[in-house]
Amino acid sequence: MQDTVSGLLLCGKTIGFVPTMGALHEGHLSLVKRARQENDKTVVSIFVNPLQFGPDEDFPRYPRDVEGDTEKLAKEAADILFIPDAPLMYPEGFLTRIEVGKISDKLCGFFRPGHFIGVATVVAKLFHIVKPTRSYFGQKDFQQAVIIGKMVRDLNMDIDVVICPTIREKDGLAMSSRNAYLTQAERKVSGVLYRSLKETADLLTSGIINSIHLKEMMHEKILQEPAVSSIDYAGFYDPETLKELSMIQGDVLLAVAAKIGNTRLIDNILVTMRKER
Ligand code: AMP
Repeated sequence: MQDTVSGLLLCGKTIGFVPTMGALHEGHLSLVKRARQENDKTVVSIFVNPLQFGPDEDFPRYPRDVEGDTEKLAKEAADILFIPDAPLMYPEGFLTRIEVGKISDKLCGFFRPGHFIGVATVVAKLFHIVKPTRSYFGQKDFQQAVIIGKMVRDLNMDIDVVICPTIREKDGLAMSSRNAYLTQAERKVSGVLYRSLKETADLLTSGIINSIHLKEMMHEKILQEPAVSSIDYAGFYDPETLKELSMIQGDVLLAVAAKIGNTRLIDNILVTMRKER
């Protein structure tokens, strides 16, 4: 991989990079399309990164479909598919970790300790291997994109981090490889997460900005659905610091993480509040 990209870079080619964990869907493919539009060559990686899963999380059963993924990427005309394995990425004696402080402990980081250390470490490694000009991330994993953007700035990595819109199913459910875990009954009701975000965003933009009241409403709406077993978080956050907002103004991240049955799903919407004159 490193030899291949060195050759490309010597020829002055730009490289667009899409890191993934595979089980590809239209969300992933939208990033590939964008990378293709904006770069000479497109590299996609598939690596189910053990370092970003907690000991009781779904690493062993995470969906894997390299054959199907390869076909989808060929159809999108991606140029290079990189599929490293765990011993290659983490040979015996591998000790280094990348930790992007503060913003890694909030939201999903609070409920998945160490998760974003695993993410930042693997993405830093992939960046050094692939040497992309631009790398593409989905807004669906907003915290991840913010953390990677911060890592790139803090460590002077000469890479543009491009955040792309969330691709959704017809009922609003954000596409995710983990949606495959949902039973039919759970899948039917899982649009509730996006609906609650959207309704709250609409209330915000119509001028209702009592954050305590809105947060309560959002929680109630989500929990009305009996298939929702728990909410990790659902509320209003600063899109840069990821701190919970008590005053709703400027750019606001509405974000939710909840379990439908045993499946943990996340989603978010960004809202910009207009300044009152
Ligand atoms: P994953 O394979 O889940 O690690 O995701 C790889 C990349 O695809 C990440 O940048 C995700 O944010 C992005 N992604 C996943 N789902 C979606 C989606 N529904 N829409 C847009 N991007 C997505």
